[in-house]
Amino acid sequence: MKLTQFCKNNVPALGIWTDRGIVDPAVEAARRGVSAPATMLEAIRGGEAAISLLETLADGPTVEEAVLAPVVTDMDKLLCIGRNYREHAAECGADLPPAPALFNKFRSALAACGQAIFLPRDYHEYDYEGELVVIIGKPARNVSVENALSHVFGYTCGNDLSTRDLQYARAGQWLMGKTFDGFAPVGPCVALGLDPRDLSLTTIVNGEVRQNARTSDMIFDVAHIIADLSHHFTLLPGDLIFTGTPSGVMQGYPADQKRWLQPGDRVEVTIEGIGTLTNTFI
Ligand code: MG
Repeated sequence: MKLTQFCKNNVPALGIWTDRGIVDPAVEAARRGVSAPATMLEAIRGGEAAISLLETLADGPTVEEAVLAPVVTDMDKLLCIGRNYREHAAECGADLPPAPALFNKFRSALAACGQAIFLPRDYHEYDYEGELVVIIGKPARNVSVENALSHVFGYTCGNDLSTRDLQYARAGQWLMGKTFDGFAPVGPCVALGLDPRDLSLTTIVNGEVRQNARTSDMIFDVAHIIADLSHHFTLLPGDLIFTGTPSGVMQGYPADQKRWLQPGDRVEVTIEGIGTLTNTFI
């Protein structure tokens, strides 16, 4: 099953992602006289009962010309893992990290599939990072690697947009260079019941394949990331974890071949079993 959020009366509302289009579960629920989760966070917190109900509502009417919202909103944390693919660590000239390297973004960085993202003109070295993104389902504190995936709600595509000339200008801190408004696009949907361990991931910029990898090349896989983070703080329902980028980002290109993102560019991140996250830049 796949779920998403779309803009309804200017706020994010839960949608069911079907082959026919996006179904508004509230419409079919009202017709049947039942109450359905109104947002992704409500669906996550509703557990298996909410998902079972949503499955029965999936044959309802579709939304005309739906505008997508970020797939989940109002979560507690947006977490990101850096240098989590071997080839990407090599292209950065970095040693393999001994443990997951953690940074974060703010909720104000969230953006939807289809959204045009503004590139501030104060900086110039804008880079894409196509990534598998985990959405936490159940609170996780001190969970084992073996049990970690049972705390996942689902998976989506993300683009960990990065400002390299800011990332390295301020003593190497990652946060400032990665959390401009709109610099955490996620979507187009959340896939439930997906095995994250060996999925293909491609990033296409203006029609050209730049990243082409499999999640099996991660240094720390999803279960290890969740177990490690949960030993330090509680992961809460709706929390997002960007799991790191494969190689092929502009950062790793030779200096004379770097083509940073520009207004007018189009980036598509596709992950097997989920779909394609598309964004343009202004
Ligand atoms: Mg990244």
